[in-house]
Amino acid sequence: MQNTLRTSVTFKGVGLHSGAPVTMTLKPAAAGNGIWFKRTDIELGDAMIPAIYDMAEQTPLCTRLVNGAGVSVSTVEHIMAALAGCGVHNALIEIDGPEVPILDGSSVEFVRGIMARGVQPQSAPVLAYEILKPVTVERDGARATLVPEDRLIIEFEIDFADAAIGRQSKTLDMRNGTFARELSDSRTFCRQADVEAMQSNGLALGGTLDNAVVVDGEEVLSPGGFRHADEAVRHKMLDALGDLALAGGPILGRYIGEKAGHSLTNALLRKLFATPGAVRPVLCDPETAARLPGKGLIWNEIPQVA
Ligand SMILES: [Zn+2]
Repeated sequence: MQNTLRTSVTFKGVGLHSGAPVTMTLKPAAAGNGIWFKRTDIELGDAMIPAIYDMAEQTPLCTRLVNGAGVSVSTVEHIMAALAGCGVHNALIEIDGPEVPILDGSSVEFVRGIMARGVQPQSAPVLAYEILKPVTVERDGARATLVPEDRLIIEFEIDFADAAIGRQSKTLDMRNGTFARELSDSRTFCRQADVEAMQSNGLALGGTLDNAVVVDGEEVLSPGGFRHADEAVRHKMLDALGDLALAGGPILGRYIGEKAGHSLTNALLRKLFATPGAVRPVLCDPETAARLPGKGLIWNEIPQVA
């Protein structure tokens, strides 16, 4: 069955890039609706932005969705991951600015907010996308691939020069609440040198040591260090789940990311849906639905962070 939220839930924070305060409210939506953003600060013109891959702009730092009227919402990946990881298929996300609040740089506050309100089953089967044959995109030594599988599996490998991150790889089956338990509290990370370069270009103005793990060589500058020894690769997997959710429904397949980022995963979805015979929509029977992310999620297993 499809799910929506039982009641609305509001998050207040700042945008990572603007540093401006933002209020975002997730509201229930009807079966078949999917996930939509609504910019409540836009009085004239089209304020509605569907969370679909072909609305995404190619930006290196985050995923930004733009509608036909040029109205956008940025940094959607962490809330999209939380909704997908909690098995929420339909929601209206009202937001009073151009950027989703960054909170602690992970998805865990979103997951806790969603699960505290509860998820409401709806009387319609879930529409999933089954991968039928491998599709790959490559760019600048990075690669993203989808191959057939009867559930969503995310496999990721990164290799950073900074010794604090280095080479990390991980593979997780997204069944049974894996996202919330294993990935949801892993934060955005960046290199100190990149922070300085971004801020001198007017980016990441809301970035602090509290909403990103900042590393410099072998040193972790953020207080408390990493939440997991491999928090960096876990965060890349979190981002991948959020970016894959822009397919418009859960994916039944294995995603393999090698140094991939938002724009490459988006290019992968574009190629997938443009390749004849690579993917087909399926209405999930109960057996397939039981393998979707969000099924079997237990409140006590969601990480608690300060
Ligand atoms: Zn991220």
